[in-house]
Amino acid sequence: MYQAPRGTSDILPEEQAYRLYIEQKAADIARLYGYKRIDTPVFEDTELFLRGVGEATDIVQKEVYTFEDRGGNKLTLRPEGTAPVCRAYLEHGMQNLSQPVKLFYIEANYRYERPQAGRYREFRQFGYEAIGDSDPALDAEVIDMAWRFFVSMGINNLHLIINSIGCPNCRPQYLEKLKAYYTQGSQTLCNDCKTRLEKNPLRLLDCKNETCRLLASTAPRSYEHLCPECAEHYVNLKKFLSVLGLPYEVDHCLVRGLDYYTRTVFEIQPEIEGAQSTIGGGGRYDGLIEELGGKPTPALGFATGIERIAANLKRQNLPVPGLPGAVVLVAYLGEAAREAAVKLCGELRKSGCAALQASGGKSLKAQLRQANSAGVRYTVIIGDDEIKAGTVQLREMTTSEQKNVTPQELKEILLGK
Ligand code: ATP
Ligand code: MG
Repeated sequence: MYQAPRGTSDILPEEQAYRLYIEQKAADIARLYGYKRIDTPVFEDTELFLRGVGEATDIVQKEVYTFEDRGGNKLTLRPEGTAPVCRAYLEHGMQNLSQPVKLFYIEANYRYERPQAGRYREFRQFGYEAIGDSDPALDAEVIDMAWRFFVSMGINNLHLIINSIGCPNCRPQYLEKLKAYYTQGSQTLCNDCKTRLEKNPLRLLDCKNETCRLLASTAPRSYEHLCPECAEHYVNLKKFLSVLGLPYEVDHCLVRGLDYYTRTVFEIQPEIEGAQSTIGGGGRYDGLIEELGGKPTPALGFATGIERIAANLKRQNLPVPGLPGAVVLVAYLGEAAREAAVKLCGELRKSGCAALQASGGKSLKAQLRQANSAGVRYTVIIGDDEIKAGTVQLREMTTSEQKNVTPQELKEILLGK
């Protein structure tokens, strides 16, 4: 027997309601803030992610699915949405549009991770990007949108965590301080952090290891080492968050996993224990478009995982609207009636009524059972008498009430016409 590959899963019909509900909400929120949908390919040139996500990141180091196609091109399954959106922004000359350009995506992404609850190798993300504007009011808008998205689904006890990690002007000095601090305590660092100290010192701050966390808690704070421009941006961001009534908390250990972030970083976390508590995060990436070959272009974005949202909805017992099913099943007795049933089913569907055809030569009792398990509200029953009279029997399934109706009456009841 074959099984779905490790870290992937089938989304069975009964699970689809969650996905559809979350993705519809995502699109509704995007519209409310003026973000337009973009879809990018499932794979890209490997180089895009090396440059766009960063060679030193966990994603590029350990998590990408990279392969060579038959033409010898090196390709990578998309592990995240931002770099492809920026590639598309440049490829389609969107820098010539009025800025910022606001885009959103809903897509499957791929990361070679150790599968566990809330962490898969194929997962879906909803995200949005605002490209071409450095206004801190835009940072606040993006954060507000993320917040509203979760609140609109009824997910409660959320925490909004923010930080500012500076820019290429002020970060190098800060990193020197950070390295000096960590070099003193380096004997207690975990092995991963010993490497980070050399390659990616900012990530020292978000190590989950207990002793590393202790060190991080008293480490130098990036927001206390900002250049005047970054400091002003950060002050204004906090002002606009307050204007919008968003209850934020500052955490100097929040740095985010990708190399491209500058200034604002943020995460939204529900109040639960465990490593997979973050349901969404984002930040500013003012250097990314330039890194990909464009002219310097400020931008920021946010991304969230659909499966983790679904898990939160379930944990909170929040109901999602069921998917609409068929309204009526058409049952029949005898061969002549069978033809009439097939015809009626076709007509009902043509006029927009979701109708099921009773299947293959069963007793009426079995056909009614089929109607019950399909959850239809009505069953239409056609026999020889009904054919002669030009009517049908209409049965309301919950009450078992049954009456003879004309085709016109049937339409009125089923279609409201
Ligand atoms: P984590 O710290 O949990 O690994 P991350 O920083 O790698 O998350 P991002 O790249 O910022 O995550 O992606 C944003 C969101 O996408 C996460 O908050 C999470 O909801 C979701 N996500 C990320 N990786 C996975 C995964 N492997 N499986 C399911 N959802 C994921
Ligand atoms: Mg990750």
